[in-house]
Amino acid sequence: MDKGTDSLDGHRCRLLSKRGANGVLPGFVFALFLTATAHAEWPTPRPLDEGRLAVAGLRVVESRHATLVTDAASSAEIDNLPRLIDLAAPQWGERFGVEEDRLNTWRLRVYLIDEEAKFRALGLWPDKSGDFQHGLSLGYEVWVRQQATDYYRRHLLLHEATHSFMATLLGSCGPGWYMEGMAELCGTHAWDPATRKLRLAVIPASRDAAPDWGRIGLVRQDADAGKALSIEAVMRIDNRMVLSTESYAWVWALDGFLDHHPAYQERFRKAPGWVTSDEFDQSFRSVFAKDRRRLDQEWRLFTKTLDYGHDLKREAIDFRGGAPLAAGGSRRVKIAADRGWQSAGVAVKAGEPIHISATGRYVIGHEPDGAPWPCEPNGITLDYHAGRPLGELLATVDAGPGAFIEPTPIGLAADYTPPAAGTLYLRVNDAPDALAENEGEVTAVVTAR
Ligand SMILES: [Zn+2]
Repeated sequence: MDKGTDSLDGHRCRLLSKRGANGVLPGFVFALFLTATAHAEWPTPRPLDEGRLAVAGLRVVESRHATLVTDAASSAEIDNLPRLIDLAAPQWGERFGVEEDRLNTWRLRVYLIDEEAKFRALGLWPDKSGDFQHGLSLGYEVWVRQQATDYYRRHLLLHEATHSFMATLLGSCGPGWYMEGMAELCGTHAWDPATRKLRLAVIPASRDAAPDWGRIGLVRQDADAGKALSIEAVMRIDNRMVLSTESYAWVWALDGFLDHHPAYQERFRKAPGWVTSDEFDQSFRSVFAKDRRRLDQEWRLFTKTLDYGHDLKREAIDFRGGAPLAAGGSRRVKIAADRGWQSAGVAVKAGEPIHISATGRYVIGHEPDGAPWPCEPNGITLDYHAGRPLGELLATVDAGPGAFIEPTPIGLAADYTPPAAGTLYLRVNDAPDALAENEGEVTAVVTAR
């Protein structure tokens, strides 16, 4: 179930962003950001009087890195929430480059709220911005309203706690798109109560793995309606206003794409070093300047094909330039069945047809009992992806508006007229969450005509 247009954070969440200043925010907040480099810059959480809390029906659960204060009934799930922060802390530390000794002493106060009035009466409500919708982060304290599913309650806690981690240990959360994108990315998790393993920043394997979350569906809805956002458009998402759930979905998608993609991950993970700089967006653009066109093409492909379990490692485009064919010449190329678009190494001209023929027998899926589905380049009609037979050989050119997103079916053999000048790319037709089960390759021969 998607969350409609509810916003995730209270508007105060955005005050953690250095970019939030711009004369819009009260001066004290801006001053805080300029100097917020260590624990001491944010106030320590307010004192707790456990006697008064108990009388009011609130209880306290402690773990190494967190103190949970809640009026929610005790359950294994609720009482484990502080432990989730313990399990998340080293993962945040690694992702954001925080040294162990600073991590060791870091603690978070978590208020999980059933009845707001109880927290207000005890002086445990934020002084300003107490009108948040679902969750709020202010330095070492986070407020999380009760949620309908265990998954989404954990998501919201991890989202707000990511803001707190960045604000208190990095000194800022960076511009709105990065701030909210990282909180959404780290909030999107896999938790196994049996093994007590928590993994942050996953692409959920299925809708059931992330109840109430719905980000993938929202991105695909926009993309399918021709309203996909460019990277620059996502970077303009401004969390000084209350964000729609669609905006959270888009910042999640961009940060998730960059964080998981083998070609961009290393550069993207430099971003925590820019959060206290006014030049964050310029730094971002400059590390991706040399292959920005490819990045934009891959982003477009990602948003158009995004699905649960999306396998970015295998979907990553194998970019390689091509050389033109001699008159009447041909080139033979192997295309792996378990990968996305791969260069055929052939430069083509717009409107000048070439001939492509293909052979090979490969595996494109499996029966539930493990028996393989054998396939040839014309594909199989047992199953379809994007309206075409599964496993069918497809072609595209790395240029023009349809590059990689409007493929042409080739099958066993076809003439292909390139819509633009560029390099020829081939792949077999399959969903981006299903490549890992494929085996073998296609041999394609590209001939000049
Ligand atoms: Zn947020």
